[in-house]
Amino acid sequence: MKVHEYQAKEVLTQFGVATQGGYVATTVEDAVAGAKKLQANGASLFVVKAQIHAGGRGKGGGVKLARSIEEVRERSEAMLGMMLKTHQTGPEGQKVKKILITDGVDIVKEYYLGITLDRSRNMNVIMASTEGGVEIEKVAEETPELIHKVWIDPTIGIQGYQARQIAFALGFQGDLFKQCVGFVLKLYKAYEETDCSLAEINPLVTTKDGKLMALDGKINFDDNALFRHKDLAEMRDTDEEDPLEVEASEFHLNYIKLDGNVGCMVNGAGLAMGTMDIIKIAGGEPANFLDVGGSANPQTVEAGFRIILKDPNVKAILINVFGGIVRCDRVALGVVEAAKNVNINIPLIVRLQGTNAEEGQEILKNSGLKIETAILLKEAAEKVTHALAA
Ligand code: ADP
Ligand code: MG
Repeated sequence: MKVHEYQAKEVLTQFGVATQGGYVATTVEDAVAGAKKLQANGASLFVVKAQIHAGGRGKGGGVKLARSIEEVRERSEAMLGMMLKTHQTGPEGQKVKKILITDGVDIVKEYYLGITLDRSRNMNVIMASTEGGVEIEKVAEETPELIHKVWIDPTIGIQGYQARQIAFALGFQGDLFKQCVGFVLKLYKAYEETDCSLAEINPLVTTKDGKLMALDGKINFDDNALFRHKDLAEMRDTDEEDPLEVEASEFHLNYIKLDGNVGCMVNGAGLAMGTMDIIKIAGGEPANFLDVGGSANPQTVEAGFRIILKDPNVKAILINVFGGIVRCDRVALGVVEAAKNVNINIPLIVRLQGTNAEEGQEILKNSGLKIETAILLKEAAEKVTHALAA
């Protein structure tokens, strides 16, 4: 689960990670009121920051300095409601519904600090670079040697010397060195205790008055651990997610919208990936990834149909179910029942393989519905291509 920068900073602050205060606003008046409170605390420079679930806001015009309350008003007016385009949003951009008003910081230098899971080593990895700021992707691609990495053994956790390695790698000395060691340890604690899959500070900055702090914060929480963090789960902002994906999650369906024209419904993530490949090889483009899980029943199949059909690009649907634990005849009954409840006016190709596959095919053939059936995946894919061409 992704959260906004202001939420990430709230979480980080709870763990003592140094960052700026700020106020989140959905109206210009609230933004101005927030800036006035910051001013009362001594701020003379403000930053207005678009809160969307995508990085690269600075380059896209979603991070603006303001030197007066009047400028905060102007910037907020311009930013609230704008379609912000960054390299992480779609080409149409993402609508800005919330902004963060925060202290403007006098930056000396920008650094990068991130923690994520390194699956190839089964360990968390801390990554740090002196080349922080808005071009970190370019650094990773062109000069990966400028990114220092330290792996944390999960059985013993982070050790002091590892935090010091990071502080050395970033070239800190004296008090900033100490601040950096503390920062790394606290960030790691936050990452671990809140079950993050990513905690990224870009930029981490040094300031004119000798402080080290997070100017930006990007946190992803592991969805599978959210059940034990009710407070964090409440931070979910479904406005930032694809509406079809939100609907699918209500039915516990793993759905990811893509740009193609063949809707697919599959049981099992691996088979879903394979099915998408086959669709591509046969000349189609998958419109989505949809894993209905191990037990494809009439309710989940019907919900799957409804979600797939809401995507106007879908020109054909391929159902690919392997009957392992679930029996194909039961799935076929589910498909027939669901297809009766949902108006499907595009070609539907169903491939059932495994336990009771023949019985399943018979049920589909005798249903009176316009369903193409297949047993081999290749055959199914060819029928899809044929349907698209027709
Ligand atoms: P994004 O990563 O989405 O572009 P950031 O929060 O990292 O957004 O902001 C982009 C750049 O804007 C930063 O690298 C920094 O130079 C500047 N910036 C962001 N917040 C502040 C702030 N509070 N004070 C001064 N400059 C800031
Ligand atoms: Mg950033």
